[in-house]
Amino acid sequence: MSQHYGPSYVRAIAPYQAGKPISEVAREFGLDEAKIVKLASNENPFGLPASAATAMAAAAADLGRYPDANAFDLKSALAARYDVPMSWITLGNGSNDILEIAAHAFVEKGQAIVYAQYSFAVYALATQGVGARAIVVPAKHYGHDLDAMAAAIDADTRLVFIANPNNPTGTFVSAPEIEAFLRKVPASVIVVLDEAYNEFLSPEQQYESTAWVKQYPNLIVSRTFSKAYGLAGLRVGFAIAQPEATDLMNRIRQPFNVNSLAQAAAIAALNDQAFLAKGAANNRAGYAQLVAAFEELGLEYVPSSGNFVLVKVGADEGAGARVNLALLKQGVIVRPVGNYGLPQWLRISIGLPDENAAFIAALKKALA
Ligand SMILES: *Cc1c(COP(=O)(O)O)cnc(C)c1O
Repeated sequence: MSQHYGPSYVRAIAPYQAGKPISEVAREFGLDEAKIVKLASNENPFGLPASAATAMAAAAADLGRYPDANAFDLKSALAARYDVPMSWITLGNGSNDILEIAAHAFVEKGQAIVYAQYSFAVYALATQGVGARAIVVPAKHYGHDLDAMAAAIDADTRLVFIANPNNPTGTFVSAPEIEAFLRKVPASVIVVLDEAYNEFLSPEQQYESTAWVKQYPNLIVSRTFSKAYGLAGLRVGFAIAQPEATDLMNRIRQPFNVNSLAQAAAIAALNDQAFLAKGAANNRAGYAQLVAAFEELGLEYVPSSGNFVLVKVGADEGAGARVNLALLKQGVIVRPVGNYGLPQWLRISIGLPDENAAFIAALKKALA
């Protein structure tokens, strides 16, 4: 008889599938790294902001010491920006860490977590990681059906994950819809509102989620420096919640989960409004560029409020994998989403104009 280690709910976890690194694709397909275009992980096409690089160079002198476990400077900057006390902030090693911390802090084995079909893959991982039961609510037009999600909350439910905008579909739920949802959720259930792509919302879509945090002690708003701020490789995210929820999360959090370089870079990026504005403008233009190509090619896509677009590249179950392989051979890395139950679709991160153009040219060849 073979020996099994660990709980069955850990053995049942399907590991997270990350976007392929450029070096790996170069090796696998015999391509020149410099010519590869990666539009697979919703990273900032401008890369690390120069302001953050400068801040890290200065912080490097102190790397022999542990980071500030309470991240005073970064928390002060965030508290000022979002008009909340520092005691309302939890830092994460990326916001993935926040999602895991929330599951560990508020849910125990056998209890339940609610999230939507086609929502971020880490919700399933966080749920399985604590041995909780997943209540997966069918999507509406590829996005969150908040009425159905509120109705799905049962006596065992302790947490709900909502991504707004959602990844991988790019769908958006409006402020009035979220407010109506928050009013319905029992006070005993934590709501994690994951706003990883908030900075890409149009002015008409923007809303003040921290105002809701002040009203709802069960609401946790999660943000990241990985996308609009261009710090994906450094791993910094944060949560804003009232002190009781924040205190519990900080007990679960590893004391030094955000390193010194990341803290310094995040402060610089937070204050770099010019970098954010440049990214937002590029994103708008790139979205128009991609969508125009999809329309020309007669491809269905899901209107996106993020920095990526989900596009249907064929009618058969093998379409996503087939077109993805054809793109890889041409040195273009995008994200297949078969693991999300979307085998006919690909998710394309919005890049610089010439990267988008390279993808479009490769897609035309792949479909020909
Ligand atoms: C990218 C992403 C995150 C953030 O990941 P980090 O760990 O902060 O890099 C969180 N939620 C969603 C929905 C995402 O797509």
